[in-house]
Amino acid sequence: MQSAYRRAALRNLAMTAPICSATAAIGEAEVDPHRAIARFAIALALISAFTTLVFGFQAAAYAAGSISNPAAAETKLQAVATTGMIADIVRNVGGERVAVRQLMGEGVDPHLYKATRSDMAAILNADITFFNGLLLEGKMSDALERIGQAGHAVHAVSALLPRDQLLASDDAPGGHADPHVWMDPLAWAKAVAVVSDRLAERDPEGADDYRRNAERYEQKLRDLDRYAEAAIASVPEGRRVLVTAHDAFGYLGRRYGLEVIGIQGLSTESEAGLKRVEEIVHLIATRRIPAVFVESTIPDRSVRALIAGAAARGHAVKIGGELYSDAMGPPGSYEGTYIGMIDHNVTLIARALGGVVPDKGHGGKLAAIVAR
Ligand SMILES: [Zn+2]
Repeated sequence: MQSAYRRAALRNLAMTAPICSATAAIGEAEVDPHRAIARFAIALALISAFTTLVFGFQAAAYAAGSISNPAAAETKLQAVATTGMIADIVRNVGGERVAVRQLMGEGVDPHLYKATRSDMAAILNADITFFNGLLLEGKMSDALERIGQAGHAVHAVSALLPRDQLLASDDAPGGHADPHVWMDPLAWAKAVAVVSDRLAERDPEGADDYRRNAERYEQKLRDLDRYAEAAIASVPEGRRVLVTAHDAFGYLGRRYGLEVIGIQGLSTESEAGLKRVEEIVHLIATRRIPAVFVESTIPDRSVRALIAGAAARGHAVKIGGELYSDAMGPPGSYEGTYIGMIDHNVTLIARALGGVVPDKGHGGKLAAIVAR
């Protein structure tokens, strides 16, 4: 993006060139050299102000994502990804060949997200679009399917997961699967393969690059998986219970042997009933669970209700910290990457439940936010 931005900047300089020649002409016509120098200085100041204005406007517009970068459009494959976790795969596998637009940012709940008009325009104009599928993008799912059926390259990254590896949902009688597959790094590696194959199909010249990048990324996911396994295994066996705001951690639980309890169901569309909250309070108090967790995409009131309920029964349970469930951390931070997000979650969970983990996690890069 750096070089693309520089190219855009050069283009802006070219735009100011006619003004430069106009001033030069005025300069030549002047007889008094002092006045000519003064005018030249004023002209320079004007050019500088104009250039700053154009740069500033365009940089702000790129940052806000309101316009696409014209220089990048010439050379890069334009990809759209719904969630941050998917965008992270596309960035890693696509490398320099692919420009990625991520629709849902930090703290955004995909179950409730409504596509904007500019999102739909981005998908229709993109060379390729990746979404999670399994109805994660609740309100967008139909539109994405329809656009795909109309002949656009729109792909669900969960497509390669064997059906028997998907967790069923308890709360949906229609029987759709649990969409939170990214919580198991090995299952998520299958999504990496989907991205790599589909990018290669769309841009065959880059096929070798995509395959190489995918292999490198998959290796990192395997390393992350080994760390997570050891981290959770360090929690005393009776304490391997994860209580969170909604049911996003089923795959994490299955992979690492954690019992997972979400106050809300698989989707965040309906609030948890009082009866559900009371059941979980009972469980926390009788099993002496030391910590429960809030999530970055969900208001914490239901988790606070649990803490108050347990306290009323004489059991002090603390908030183990904030987990990243359906969105990654702040852009530009380690937690704003998929690996950082899982590292953060696993390290936080293991430590709050009594396990032994490195202070700064698997990568040694975690911010010092881990509760003790
Ligand atoms: Zn969710």
